[in-house]
Amino acid sequence: MSTKQIKRIVRDVPGHWVGDGFPVRSLFTYAEADLFDPFLLLDYAAPHTFAPSSGEPRGVGEHPHRGFETVTIVYQGELEHRDSAGHHGAIGPGDVQWMTAASGVVHEEFHSQRFARAGGTFEVVQLWVNLPARDKMSAPRYQEILDRQIPVVKLPDGAGSVRVIAGELAGTKGPALTFTPVQLWDVQLSAGGAATLPLVDNHTTALVVQRGDSTVNDTETVADASLVLFDRAGDQISLKAKGEGRVLLLSGQPIGEPVVGQGPFVMNTRDEIQQAIRDFQAGRMGRLA
Ligand code: MN
Repeated sequence: MSTKQIKRIVRDVPGHWVGDGFPVRSLFTYAEADLFDPFLLLDYAAPHTFAPSSGEPRGVGEHPHRGFETVTIVYQGELEHRDSAGHHGAIGPGDVQWMTAASGVVHEEFHSQRFARAGGTFEVVQLWVNLPARDKMSAPRYQEILDRQIPVVKLPDGAGSVRVIAGELAGTKGPALTFTPVQLWDVQLSAGGAATLPLVDNHTTALVVQRGDSTVNDTETVADASLVLFDRAGDQISLKAKGEGRVLLLSGQPIGEPVVGQGPFVMNTRDEIQQAIRDFQAGRMGRLA
C-alpha cells in the first residue's frame, strides 16, 4: 500500500448564493477540470439557519443542464425538485438525488414547502460528475437514493462509519449507478477516531471536511468547509479526527477527455456548447409543466 500524497488544500473559500436558497462555497469548479477529472464542481452549503416563512420557498428556479450528472446530498433540511422528465419529489436528511442530465434536463430546486414553513438548518452538497463523450447525449436518468437504501460500513476500532453512496468499501457496494468508476462515501468519524481508507491507484481523490478538525495522512490538520485534493498515485489515505467529524470522500477514474463548460452545460467542444444553448432556447431539453 502507498499513500496518496496531499496535492492541494482549499481553505477559506468565499461564499455566494445560488438562487435565494443555497449559501454555498464552490470548493472547485470545471475551470480546473483536469485536476479534478472526472468531477466538475462541488458546492457545499454549510449549515445555515433559515427563519420560518409563509412566502414562496427559497431556491433556484427553472434552469437546464447538459453533459454531466448532478449529485445532491442532503444533510439537514429538505429539498424539493421538479424536472422536465416528469420527476418530482422531496429529499431529506441522508437522502441523495443522483440526476443524470446527459442530453438535457430542465429543473428547479427549492426548499420544500414543509421546510420553508417550519424553518431550520439547511446543509447540502451538490457535486457534478462528468460523463464520457459517448454518454453525454444519452437519455436523462434519475436516481432517488434514500437514506435507508445506503449501506453503512463500520470502521475498525470504533473509528466511525461510512455510508457508501457509490463505489465499494470492504465488500459493501453503494446503490448509485455510475457511468465510470466513482466512489462517494459519507464518512462519520468518532472523537479521536483514526482510519485508513483503501482507494484506487490513479483515481482522482478529494475530501471535503464538513465538521470537526481532521488530520490527514498524519501531516495536515484541516477544518470545516475545506477540501483536500490528493495525488492520483497511491491507494490509501489516512484520517484522524480530533472531535467528532464528518467528511465526504470522492474518488473516481479520470475520463481524460477535453472539457468545455459554460454555465450549466459541460461538453467536449465549443460547438457542442453552442448547440446546447440553441437546444435549450428551442425547448429541446423540455420544459417544466
Ligand atoms: Mn440544477
